[in-house]
Order: sequence, then structure tokens, then C-alpha cells
Amino acid sequence: MSEEAAANVDMEKLVSLCRRRGFVFPSSEIYGGLSSCWDYGPLGVELKRNIKDAWWRTMIQERDDMVGIDSSILMHPRIWQASGHLEGFSDPLAECKSCHQRWRTDQFEGDHCPDCGGELTETQMFNLMFKTFMGPVEEAANTVYLRPETAQGIFVNFQNVVTTTRKKLPFGIAQIGKSFRNEITTGNFIFRSREFEQMEIEFFVKPGTDKEWFDYWLKECLDWYLKLGIRKEHLKLRQHMKDELAHYALDCYDIDYLFPMGWAELEGIANRGDFDLSQHAKHSGKSLSYYDEESKEQITPYVIEPSAGVDRAFLAFLCDAYAEEPDKDETRVLLHLHPDLAPIKVAILPLSKKENVARVAKDLYAELRHHWVTGYDDAQSIGRRYRRQDEIGTPFCVTVDFQSLEDGQVTVRERDSMNQIRVPIKELKTTLTAKLSGEDLFVLPPGGQIWKVEKGG
Ligand code: ATP
Repeated sequence: MSEEAAANVDMEKLVSLCRRRGFVFPSSEIYGGLSSCWDYGPLGVELKRNIKDAWWRTMIQERDDMVGIDSSILMHPRIWQASGHLEGFSDPLAECKSCHQRWRTDQFEGDHCPDCGGELTETQMFNLMFKTFMGPVEEAANTVYLRPETAQGIFVNFQNVVTTTRKKLPFGIAQIGKSFRNEITTGNFIFRSREFEQMEIEFFVKPGTDKEWFDYWLKECLDWYLKLGIRKEHLKLRQHMKDELAHYALDCYDIDYLFPMGWAELEGIANRGDFDLSQHAKHSGKSLSYYDEESKEQITPYVIEPSAGVDRAFLAFLCDAYAEEPDKDETRVLLHLHPDLAPIKVAILPLSKKENVARVAKDLYAELRHHWVTGYDDAQSIGRRYRRQDEIGTPFCVTVDFQSLEDGQVTVRERDSMNQIRVPIKELKTTLTAKLSGEDLFVLPPGGQIWKVEKGG
């Protein structure tokens, strides 16, 4: 734990908000739940999609030197032999002889059960890959594995991408997808589960330039979290010690985030050298080299790998966004989510259920949802409706009232400051577009006026 910073929220509060508002549910809940698996609810699925979209936009769409792929989860079993996962993707496991709980012995100090103090069995290495069978016969020859990382799907497609895109070094291939690990100990909500999603980049470079690209990617990855609103003091870089490095890594840093349970890995950035391409070339018998036009030689590129977890990013963004503010006699709970991440961008709140007001509100709702995920809420007092939107991080609420029928204007209220401005309906889309991309709320659209500027609205 850091002495200088404190986690932003405790886990219990966050789990409860996620459950109550439909961000995350325990998997298979009506059957008593399935340990360490989670389902993302209506708001969770939007937030998760926004995280992946924001990552894809920054890492692939806006760059010349990146392309994406989507490889299959089940792959040839020899891939895992070549990559070293069959042999080495294991954690040290011991069981308590008294309470029979199983423990990862590299995660605590001492040689007794951390829970009951009982004696532990001898430590054994436990492979984390899930096995299943391909086809109707359940025999060893048909064993396949659920991928424990998306990376290998990229390496085995290296040559396909080079020939089809004609990319020149340095360039990267990215993919987002599910990975599975039969973790010995899980927990801390969605932080460590057995089924999760990764966002991975394999960035191929000329040997000798790998160190500078490694530094470059450390900064790029950190910047991505900062740009989307994570506080600097809640992030830190941690270099792996030599004895901690994975079998393939020349160097590795973790980006750690100050989660409610303490500092823990959010993303790993590794210099994998030429390990993977060389191994797959050796095991498949196919050439995975690259013709370098400068030196006129075949070379095996080195690889820098930023590997992020979607679920951990989800947890970190939620933790960092969470806030409680005193509000009259109550507490206002809000999520200061970046507009790009907020599950709902704008909510339409008619101040009356009367038909003429409701009709304007419904028309607006129908129009805006072509552009953004839009909410509509006409139940209970306006104060309560604002609170409901604040709690799920909706950046803007639009209220329609009787005056809207006369002057053709609506009120736009901003989540963080609670400031409100009056905006002509025909300017609403332009105004919201500007504000959702971060422009100042008090730049009034033509014909707009400041309606009310006060706290507690
Ligand atoms: P840890 O040390 O926490 O087990 P790791 O070093 O094994 O993680 P990597 O293999 O580097 O993790 O995986 C890259 C990223 O994938 C991690 O930084 C994390 O965001 C995510 N990730 C890995 N395992 C899990 C898991 N069991 N549940 C959720 N996310 C995970």
C-alpha cells in the first residue's frame, strides 16, 4: 500500500452500486452463482464497450502503424507447446490440511494457511489453462485449450498480416478478446476472474530499437488512462525483478493502480524479444521472418507487448470516478466518468407528464438516440431523477418544461458542476456534441441564455 495516496472508494460500496444500478451481476445468480465469473448488466455492457472503443480508437484507428485482428479462442494445441504455456504457465499451489482451502504460495509469506494457520501440503505447480475436447470423442489426442492470452493468436497470424497489409517495421497488431485462466485464488470483484477480456498489442520492431519502443509504449499506455480521467497519483509503474520475469521477457513493467484493496496490476508491458516468432517458426516449420529492405536481410522482429485487462480497466475507471458530495441533508453520489466512457451520454427528463410536454420530450429522445445512448426518465421528482443520472455518470440531462412549448428552448444540466443553461431545441444536438467532446459548458449556443447557475439543482 502506498503511504502517500489512498484508494478512492471501498470495494463494498462499489460492488453495491454496480449491483443496484445494473453494471455487474454475479454470474448464474439464480443458481447460487459461479465463483469468480461475472455478468455485465445493461449499464456495464455500455461502459465496457466504451472502454474497448476508446482503446481501439487511440491504439488502432488513429495510428498508421497499427492494425487489428480477431483470432479464435480455440487454437491448435501445439501453439501452447511452442509458446511455453503447456510447460510453464503455472502457479505454485498448496492445500491446507485442516480447512482444505487452496492457496497460491507466492502470494503470502510464511508456510502455514493464511486463514486458519493449518499445515500446508507440499507446493505443486498447477497449470492455469482450461482444457476441453474438440469433436465428439473425449480423448487426450483431442485436447484443446481455451486461450489464456490473446497474444498467441497475433503471433501465429504475423505472416498473414505482413503479406496482406504490406506493413513495414515498426508496426503493431492489436486484438481485444476473451481469455481464460483457471486461477487458484480469485476475488476482489472483477479484478481477478477465470474468464476475462484483454486488450493486447504486439508491436514488432527491428532488434536494437526495442528499448526505445519499450519506453515509448510505457508512456503511451499511461497516457491513455490519464487522458480518460484516471488520477496520476493513483497510477504507478513497477519494474519486474529479474527473478519475476516471465520466461519470454527481456524486461517488463506493470502499470499498477491503487485499487480499493491496494496497489495492483492494471496492465503489463513486456519486451518479449524474438521469443514468440522464433518459437512458432521452429515448431510450425514455417518462416516467420521479415525481409528488411534496409539491410537486405531476413530478420526476426522483436516484440513490445502492452497487455491490458478490460475488466481491470472497468474497475479502475469506476473507482476513480466515484464521488460522494454533501448535498442539503443527503449525500450526492456521482460518477465523474469521462464522457467517452459514460454508459448514457444524455438523459431526457420531461418536467411534466402532460401530453404536450411529453411529446416534445419523446421527439427529442427519438432524435438524440440516433447519435448517443440516451436515457428517458419521467418518474418521480426532478431532484431524484438528477441523482439517478449522477449516480451512473450521465454527463448531461435535458429537461423539457412548459416554457419549452413557448420559446422552443430546453435546459441542459451538467453532471459535475450542476450548472444549467437554456438552449434552443434546434441547437441542442450541436451543443451536446461540443460539450461531450469537452468544450466549456458556458459557451452559449446562438439564441441560448444562462437559465440558472446554482449548486444543488
Ligand atoms: P497477475 O499477476 O495479476 O496474475 P498477470 O501478470 O498474470 O496478472 P498478464 O499475464 O500480464 O497478467 O495479463 C495481462 C493483463 O490481463 C493484466 O494486466 C490484467 O489486466 C489482465 N488479467 C490477467 N489475468 C486476469 C484475471 N484473472 N482476471 C482479470 N484480468 C486479468
